[in-house]
Amino acid sequence: MPHRRLALLALLGLAAASVLPLRAAAPDRPNLVVIVTDDHGYADVGFNGCTDIPTPHLDSIARRGVRFSSGYVTYSVCSPSRAGLLTGRYPQRFGHERNPRFLPADRTAGLPLSETTLADTLGKIGYRNAIVGKWHLGAHPDLHPLKRGFHEFFGMLGGGHRYFPAEYTLRETAQAKSEADSYRLWLMRNHEPVPPSDQYLTDELSDAAVGFIARHRDTPFFLYLAYNAPHAPLQATEKYLSRFSNLTDPRRRTYAAMVSAVDDGVGRVLAELRRLGLEENTLIFFLSDNGGPTTVNGSRNTPLRGNKGDVWEGGFRVPFAAQWPARFPAGRTYDRPVSSLDIFATIAAVTAAPLDPARPLDGVNLLPFVNGQKAGAPHAAIYLRKFDQGAFAVRRGDFKLAIPKRGDTPQLFNLASDLGETKDLAAAQASVVAELEALRTAWNARLVEPVFAGLLESPAAKKAPKAK
Ligand code: CA
Repeated sequence: MPHRRLALLALLGLAAASVLPLRAAAPDRPNLVVIVTDDHGYADVGFNGCTDIPTPHLDSIARRGVRFSSGYVTYSVCSPSRAGLLTGRYPQRFGHERNPRFLPADRTAGLPLSETTLADTLGKIGYRNAIVGKWHLGAHPDLHPLKRGFHEFFGMLGGGHRYFPAEYTLRETAQAKSEADSYRLWLMRNHEPVPPSDQYLTDELSDAAVGFIARHRDTPFFLYLAYNAPHAPLQATEKYLSRFSNLTDPRRRTYAAMVSAVDDGVGRVLAELRRLGLEENTLIFFLSDNGGPTTVNGSRNTPLRGNKGDVWEGGFRVPFAAQWPARFPAGRTYDRPVSSLDIFATIAAVTAAPLDPARPLDGVNLLPFVNGQKAGAPHAAIYLRKFDQGAFAVRRGDFKLAIPKRGDTPQLFNLASDLGETKDLAAAQASVVAELEALRTAWNARLVEPVFAGLLESPAAKKAPKAK
């Protein structure tokens, strides 16, 4: 951009700031939309090559912005991944390394109160923050989204939900005595249970997202749209199932319908931003919270190895894209490793949001990397630890070190030539193993042990349920 135009924009920004400090149109105050899907496989978006489930609206984010082919989350199951996303810090640094149990009376069973969320941070500079969908960062009143920086909440506190309102049979949070019970709770609007509607859950969440955007068109906003789909239970309406009568595997068919419902919802969000003239200066991120549990919900992570819960690429490398017409290039594929941690860091950098020096971010501002100002890798390395399993992954450049479980000999893969992690190079490249082991040891020394008990990840969770 020519300097004269930049200067003019700066002047306009100053002029606007003196009158209306929170104007949505200010270039350093983009609207922010972070869309998360749940247990959505790497291969199950059109922009990663999916052919049997059309995702035109998710694809349009990649087409109008950047597709990240190596986008990682910080953990390979739900809650710790979300803790990393919303704090911008590896959750292993603050002991959030398990899925919390649904314990409304336990204020330790969720995102530690010592941590600052992206919503906390954006609230300080005038953003209006909403979460629509799945929280999964604690059910205690002190851990409620409205206590963690959000101004509005519509959705569920637990780790998932049933999709048909007739199955929302528990009104009060305290009635849920287990994770499974929590899937049957009434949805909540802020602190109030909402009587079951007649809408399929994914559609109801999309409605709430569109409504929030329309109500806050005149202030900068942060919408965290956390769909619980396509997480189990596999449930979809005929409207979406009928699009996939060609799919013979009933699990894949229902999963496809669930993904298609999300894609429709994302299309409605994009259309609303466009209708209100907000799209140009809205930064949108889309990603899944972890890899697909292929045997549970019929998802696919190909060509990646492994599933949700793993340290293989299929566990924590996810569909990932972002658009921001005002500042990001369009139609770019960015192949160097990036992280869900970078969402907080990018937003903090572009909005100049105040940060707590006692809680340093682990992410990187992606803007100069995607627009070509900075070459090289955003991250020296990408890390994963799973404390209970004694499992680790370290990726540096094309090399990846993997320790699938406690006591395993470290394995080494070259992802550039072997994306599917089939050929262990550890014996042949011992010096690379030693370097990555040194990185792992140094990173691990900065971590703490888990601070709450959590749900065990049991092998039983990998059994295939019937589609229903
Ligand atoms: Ca998940």
